Amino acid sequence: MNLADSHCHFHLLEDGPGNIESVLRDAADNGVAHFLNVAVDVERHELLLELTRRWPAIAISAGVHPSGTGEDPDVDGLAALCSGEAVVAVGETGLDYVYNSGDLGWQRERFRRHVRAARAVGKPVIVHTRGAPEDTVTILREERAHEVGGVIHCFTEDWDTAQACMDLGFHISLSGIVTFRSAESLREVARHIPRDRLLVETDAPYLAPVPHRGEENRPALLRHTVECIARARDEPPERVADATRENYFQLFPLTRA
Ligand SMILES: [Zn+2]
Ligand SMILES: [Zn+2]
Repeated sequence: MNLADSHCHFHLLEDGPGNIESVLRDAADNGVAHFLNVAVDVERHELLLELTRRWPAIAISAGVHPSGTGEDPDVDGLAALCSGEAVVAVGETGLDYVYNSGDLGWQRERFRRHVRAARAVGKPVIVHTRGAPEDTVTILREERAHEVGGVIHCFTEDWDTAQACMDLGFHISLSGIVTFRSAESLREVARHIPRDRLLVETDAPYLAPVPHRGEENRPALLRHTVECIARARDEPPERVADATRENYFQLFPLTRA
């Protein structure tokens, strides 16, 4: 297999960037050759840029996680960070009504700023959404996110939400959650996503797939997720691998270099 991990965080692995060489070797041994290291804050933007300089197979995004508590730039500040040629996408942004509660107007505003910045630089948006399907779709629609497109990462919502996001031109990325025993309805969604809209990810170091659930996740484990999706779709794993890799290059054209 030749896989693209559309969402991982090398810089959050327990051993941090110091161990990336062996994490990449392990990934290569397991058929994963392309990686999008997604940002969760702007304080470590320089560190992520350093990763792309040292390892060309690693692409990066820039942005502030919906639950992040650090620096929170305005649209111009975000656009400035995202305009560099090493940055292939904006995010991760979105809404998380599970981790955060109370009046979350600030989170919706942050999300809107990211979509505006993405449109300003013409790059796709990486969307994190938990417990907020309606507001996520509303904001993507109101902010005209279809002009740049993007991905709903670690998708766990229902088919109607998947459909609404795909209508806005978005891709759907599935993580190790699809392998969990309780995820029968998600496997049903996985079965119906059109092949040209599907991406896969580890979200490493989080959400390791079965049979490694509970361990620190790493890109090398991506094939378990791909094999599970392939079973749900009654397709060979190679077909899922090829489609999701091609979709990755199509959605993030700057990763082709
Ligand atoms: Zn996320
Ligand atoms: Zn993430």
